[in-house]
Amino acid sequence: MADVPRDLLQEIKRLEDLFTVDKAKLKKITDHFVSELAKGLSKEGGSIPMNPTWCMSFPTGFETGRFLALDMGGTNLRVCEITLTDEKSEFEILQSKYRMPEELKSGDADELWEYVADCVQQFIETHKLTDEMDTLHLGFTFSYPATQNYINHGILQRWTKGFDIKGVEGEDVVPMFEAAIAKRGVPIHLTALVNDTTGTLIASAYTDTRMKIGCIFGTGCNAAYMEDCGSIPKLAHMNLPPETPMAINCEWGAFDNEGKILPKTPYDVIVDQDSPRPGQQAFEKMIAGLYLGEIFRLVLVDLHDNKNVHIFEGQNIDKLRKAYTLDSSFLSMIEEDPWENLSETKDLFQTKLLLSATHPELELIRRLAELIGTRAARLASCGVAAICKKKGYETCHVGADGSVFNKYPHFKQRGADALREILDWPEKKNPKDEDPIEILAAEDGSGVGAALIAALTLERVKAGNG
Ligand code: BGC
Ligand code: MG
Repeated sequence: MADVPRDLLQEIKRLEDLFTVDKAKLKKITDHFVSELAKGLSKEGGSIPMNPTWCMSFPTGFETGRFLALDMGGTNLRVCEITLTDEKSEFEILQSKYRMPEELKSGDADELWEYVADCVQQFIETHKLTDEMDTLHLGFTFSYPATQNYINHGILQRWTKGFDIKGVEGEDVVPMFEAAIAKRGVPIHLTALVNDTTGTLIASAYTDTRMKIGCIFGTGCNAAYMEDCGSIPKLAHMNLPPETPMAINCEWGAFDNEGKILPKTPYDVIVDQDSPRPGQQAFEKMIAGLYLGEIFRLVLVDLHDNKNVHIFEGQNIDKLRKAYTLDSSFLSMIEEDPWENLSETKDLFQTKLLLSATHPELELIRRLAELIGTRAARLASCGVAAICKKKGYETCHVGADGSVFNKYPHFKQRGADALREILDWPEKKNPKDEDPIEILAAEDGSGVGAALIAALTLERVKAGNG
């Protein structure tokens, strides 16, 4: 950064201090995380919900049958027919994607369920599925925190990921969905309501028995793992045998909502205050794809407005002032641009924001994207390390899915580096060696995972343990 003017250099230094999370801090966060996971399982509860999901076993690989799976994600709605075939760990999938209209996310409950039911009905009719099966067993992936007393119920605790649909929080979402389906006369039975992380865990374990944790690093961020009922004091009243497994949807996005340990910057504070649910999802707001571009944007606006820092001088930054105009793919593109000339980044700013950036400005922009992306990956690893510590896993596989994990440059490597620091692993002898704990790309959780959980539920009901 030879020719970068003093004011920008100073800013880069300031941003590095703000956004860097060193090894000592990672360890402190992880230790606090371990105790918060346990607190969430206690009767009194803590800030991490630690929701029991009533998914009570890993798959064997020998599950069979045909299922419907519905995934109501942040951007898309996906409907699938999944056939778990006779061959071990094999499946076939037929699927359609529909867009989740932006207006729905802040509309009201009826509009949401009507839209969802329409998509399901359309899928079934297009593929003529009702001719082939009597009742279709559905695994519904609903990727928001829900309190479940049974597997086919779920009271929405609160919306996350910027959703703000009236009349759903505090309500059981299953009857609402079923009513909309019943109106259409579609023969569907909702067998399991599933979180995307639980689906990811189960789908990954279907093909790899070393998989112990399922994670999503996408629009939102969260993880699920298998706990034993004996370690879940808040389920003591159920008198389940202590060794019975129970998948826990951590909802770890809520970690540190009370603001004790995360190194929040003033920009994180603004993201939180301007969100539909201030004070919630503190951890998620520093990591998930929905927020990375917004943090980045807020920094640039702040630098422009600071008279002592000269960036985009004399230019109209109206486009940059619009909240949530930059998503995490914008940062991905910047991080993919070779440092040598940053010409892609220059083009991006020109076309998307109508801003012309000088080379020193481009260097600051690039460094900022790196800092935000690196912080996200490192903080995410604290959650993974915490679950492993809590469970005493010294070696295992972690199945991860989501746009940030799959598409954000260096996210995997940065996460792996942070795990090594937190868990004090020695350096690898050979770059090809496996780490003791590896975060790997998961199988399709909201498709295959939801179908498997429906299959496991039917087996459990048949065995009389419903
Ligand atoms: C939701 C979780 C979900 C995660 C990833 C979070 O905002 O609360 O339920 O697993 O996003 O989709
Ligand atoms: Mg999803």
